[in-house]
Amino acid sequence: MRPFTYERADSVDDAVALHGEQTRYLGGGTNLVDLMRLGVEQPDRLVDVTRLPYDQITVAPDGGLLIGATVRNSDLAVSWSVRQTHPLLSQAVLAGASGQIRNQATVGGNLLQRTRCSYFQDITKPCNKRDPGSGCPARKGENHNMAIFGHSTACVATHPSDMAVALAALDASVHVHSREGKRVLPLSDFYRFPKDDPSRDTVLKPGELITEVEVPPLGMPSSYRKVRERASFAFALVSIAGALKVEDGVVQDCRIALGGVAHKPWRAHRAEEMLRGVAATKENYLRAADAELESAHPLRENGYKIPLARNLIVRTMLSLGEGA
Ligand SMILES: Cc1cc2nc3c(=O)[nH]c(=O)nc-3n(C[C@H](O)[C@H](O)[C@H](O)COP(=O)(O)OP(=O)(O)OC[C@H]3O[C@@H](n4cnc5c(N)ncnc54)[C@H](O)[C@@H]3O)c2cc1C
Ligand code: SF4
Repeated sequence: MRPFTYERADSVDDAVALHGEQTRYLGGGTNLVDLMRLGVEQPDRLVDVTRLPYDQITVAPDGGLLIGATVRNSDLAVSWSVRQTHPLLSQAVLAGASGQIRNQATVGGNLLQRTRCSYFQDITKPCNKRDPGSGCPARKGENHNMAIFGHSTACVATHPSDMAVALAALDASVHVHSREGKRVLPLSDFYRFPKDDPSRDTVLKPGELITEVEVPPLGMPSSYRKVRERASFAFALVSIAGALKVEDGVVQDCRIALGGVAHKPWRAHRAEEMLRGVAATKENYLRAADAELESAHPLRENGYKIPLARNLIVRTMLSLGEGA
């Protein structure tokens, strides 16, 4: 491991002032420190941001949430308010990692965790995300858990965070600070598709610090489902964050976001549009799922994700509809 310095920031101004070229902000360290051990990340300086005053969840009178970036994943998942107003968010966080890791991990760090592509994590292998221009061995190699939507010749990796999939369905936005001031980014624009530059996962500029995540009120039943290779400690093969409002047998509103299928959480806009205003039936759910999946481009080993995603959409909408 290369030597590095450790600093602790007490204020946002401190944190952004301490950030230099080879600096990384340190949340719980559950991803960053692993990547440092593997040699994937080699910062000169870590700026610990866990003492910043962003460790609260505030509930607005309309049911919206403002979640501090240093809130631990466990505290977010067990929050009574979150479980009442946005149960899919609590369920998504609980579906990730393990109890010990969730106790340590922060909201900001969860959003910025890196892909679990095994080539990315192995510094003896080429990888355009880690070493731009070196190639993408996953494209023709081991790709059973790679993307089916929005991938490029440069990268076929998937985004790993369950929390981010729920936040995508919830139309959340991310508050960030830098020396230039503050900006608010809708989550839909926060993550990038790989295109010809997979080295960047998000649109964040160097030194930008996540301080809060804002979640509008939801007002309809919701749930998160995740299919994985074992019951815990495993990333999604495919996951879904769903919400559905049915009145008199007709879909009034719905949200569908998929995880494990793209370089960013995949919001199923096409399926949502097809469902609004039609009868809440299995046939309509199937039609909407098929329409969404028409734009999928599976790789050699991951065609199974198409029926898996289709079944997850239909099953989730059916069970949410039964509750209505
Ligand atoms: C065995 C294992 C299994 C896991 N399974 C899952 C899973 O199934 N689903 C899932 O979603 N996750 C899973 N995880 C990932 C886990 O959720 C993340 O490691 C964790 O959420 C990262 O949070 P952290 O605070 O520790 O981030 P860190 O490791 O501290 O940081 C991660 C990145 O975020 C940056 N960062 C941190 N805070 C900020 C901030 N406020 N502003 C800007 N940048 C910041 C860091 O510089 C770094 O680049 C798993 C992890 C492990 C080790
Ligand atoms: S899929 Fe992306 S992360 Fe994986 S080897 Fe290819 S470029 Fe690297």
